[in-house]
Amino acid sequence: MVDMARKYISLVLIALIILCLPIAGAGGAKTGDQDTGASGTVIRQGGEYAPEELIVRFTSPQSDPKLGKKVEKMFGKAAKRTHKITRDYTPLGLSNTYLIRLSHEEDVKEVKAKYLSDSEVVFAEPNYIVTIDTIPNDPSFSLLWGLHNTGQRGTADADIDAPEAWDLSTGSSAVVVAVIDTGVDYTHPDLAANIWTNPGEIAGDGIDNDRNGFIDDIHGWDFYNNDSQPLDDNGHGTHCAGTIGAVGGNGIGVTGVMWNTRIMPLKFMSSSGSGYTSDAVAAILYADMMGADVLSNSWGGPDYSSALESAIAGSPALVVCAAGNNGRNADTYPMYPAAYTCPQIVSVASYSPYDRLSSFSNYGPVSVDVAAPGEYIYSTLKGGGYGYKSGTSMATPHVAGLAGLLKSNSPGLSNLDLKAAILDSVDQRSSLTGKIATGGLINAANALSSLQPATLSVTGISPSSGYTTGPVSITNLAGTGFQSTPGVKLVGPDGTPEIPATGVTRVSSTRLTCTINLEGQPTGLYTVQVTNPGGEMASFSGFTILPPVPTISSLSPSSAGVGGAAFELLVSGTNFTPASSVAWNGSVRETVYDAGTLRATILQSDIASPGTAIVTVVDPERGISNGKGFTILPPLPAPTVSRIYPSMVKKGTTRSETIYGTNFVSGASAELRMSGQSPIQCTNMVRVNSGKLTCTIAIPANAAIGYWDVVVTNPDGQSGMKARGFRIY
Ligand code: CA
Ligand code: CA
Ligand code: CA
Ligand code: CA
Repeated sequence: MVDMARKYISLVLIALIILCLPIAGAGGAKTGDQDTGASGTVIRQGGEYAPEELIVRFTSPQSDPKLGKKVEKMFGKAAKRTHKITRDYTPLGLSNTYLIRLSHEEDVKEVKAKYLSDSEVVFAEPNYIVTIDTIPNDPSFSLLWGLHNTGQRGTADADIDAPEAWDLSTGSSAVVVAVIDTGVDYTHPDLAANIWTNPGEIAGDGIDNDRNGFIDDIHGWDFYNNDSQPLDDNGHGTHCAGTIGAVGGNGIGVTGVMWNTRIMPLKFMSSSGSGYTSDAVAAILYADMMGADVLSNSWGGPDYSSALESAIAGSPALVVCAAGNNGRNADTYPMYPAAYTCPQIVSVASYSPYDRLSSFSNYGPVSVDVAAPGEYIYSTLKGGGYGYKSGTSMATPHVAGLAGLLKSNSPGLSNLDLKAAILDSVDQRSSLTGKIATGGLINAANALSSLQPATLSVTGISPSSGYTTGPVSITNLAGTGFQSTPGVKLVGPDGTPEIPATGVTRVSSTRLTCTINLEGQPTGLYTVQVTNPGGEMASFSGFTILPPVPTISSLSPSSAGVGGAAFELLVSGTNFTPASSVAWNGSVRETVYDAGTLRATILQSDIASPGTAIVTVVDPERGISNGKGFTILPPLPAPTVSRIYPSMVKKGTTRSETIYGTNFVSGASAELRMSGQSPIQCTNMVRVNSGKLTCTIAIPANAAIGYWDVVVTNPDGQSGMKARGFRIY
């Protein structure tokens, strides 16, 4: 194991030496970490990666034996034991993703291609090398122009207006900013008080007390050396940490954008300022696991990594990334992670004290979001000192610090809220127009001001009334200064209990939604009272609780013939009271309340002409019900009789008869008539259809013989006749 580790480290060093060779630069050769001129442009070619490693994501969990079978299939029996899983990212949140050690004879690209041919492989990629994005330079003569530029360097007010922002917030120990870098000198006197401590871990007992997979991770983790001391052996990470959160107001050194914060040191790059994506991915996943609010990433490389992108895409934090120092358009020449399209990334360009984009800074109207001070930045260095550095590396922690300030001020903000607040509040600078997406330099004062809650007020509620029958859904409780999850209640007339709202949702600082259950509550005018979490309270008088409205479900009868007699109308429905009246086309009729129903007397004059009358129920307390239509039928045509069969019957006998004609309706009656004789009624009347009736006729023994008229009479009184249509003999 020791041998393997040593071999691994030696290979890493070879890779780093290659990286640190001078690369073509417009403003000076890079000869080390400290000596490149501020305007030096370093173009990295990319394609550098660990010689014996591959990062692979599968569709299902893997183990060494399972992997061995795959390897045997891909490379033959002898290769069975050559590929080993050296890191499993699954416990950190990136499922089925592994760092795999290859055998040293293998070509990484060829192995990658073979892995990709396996249907279970989601992605396979080399373990790329990324580097810090600092352009080191000599200390100079002025301090902290980026926070507050009085003209001591460059142009007055070419800064982020930090003092103005500090009137609103100087940070919070509740906000954790992960510095994913070369480590942090967490013993630095100007940093120590602001370093994150893992609350669940006991130092130095060799036990993983919080069971997060890392033993004694008191102040973060060193992923480069795989130990619990992420100290900085380069200086870069310490410098970034100081810009984010060097202790403010302690009478020494410098101050960060945040005076008070918790910096989580996560080291994954070496003393030479480079590291592997495999370790960067682990650091990001660790930061997310341990609840960091902001991830500051002052490093990058030109090689696209699915593993890195996946880790960032799953992060609940704001991921602030350096746009890179190539002096090129990053839309065309992307540097990662800044150039991934994950919505939680803010890509940061470097701004000069001379009020322009730094000459070395990458830009990109699409992929680069904001600019921040990145030249001659004075901050903490490892070993307790201070010094200047330049680069998008230095711009990035200004944005990370600002994100932390915003989070301190408004803990409820999501990563995307933080991003919006930063991007929406930039100072437009003509030198940035068209160069980066926002065209602006971050402005801490503007960003914080934009978040200041307006004074709490309630200005309206919709709907503004509800019924005692159940819950009412409030779709817009309008006002200003609503903070996360305010309390909402209705306060009624004296002596009535308060009614709390449930499901209060803060749609925005000016709109809440909620549900209020009004069932059985006293009616009347109520005041809506909103209370912010801090106790601030505002109210609005204007919500009325109403008794339930009467509702008609049915009428009986629901129609009548025109010209008919007065009748009683039965109205059925809900929420009727003894005070309710039935109205006929709006005019109240005499009404009797009868066990929840209403009986009303409808006048003959009410149905004098055909049409539809609207019946409503009017209640002095509950209002007017829905309207129900009552049909007044037009007069029917008179019936006609064409014949009866049989039409000849002997007196004293009883016969079944069928009567033919037209316009017969239900309830029609029939009889035989002869002048001077008593009519003979048909009985057992059945209406077969409008043209046919059946009945029974019993001819009395003393009936007059001869021809009788057959008369059919509809219930409306109209009749038809077949004269002399029936013969009694
Ligand atoms: Ca632990
Ligand atoms: Ca421990
Ligand atoms: Ca270490
Ligand atoms: Ca200080």
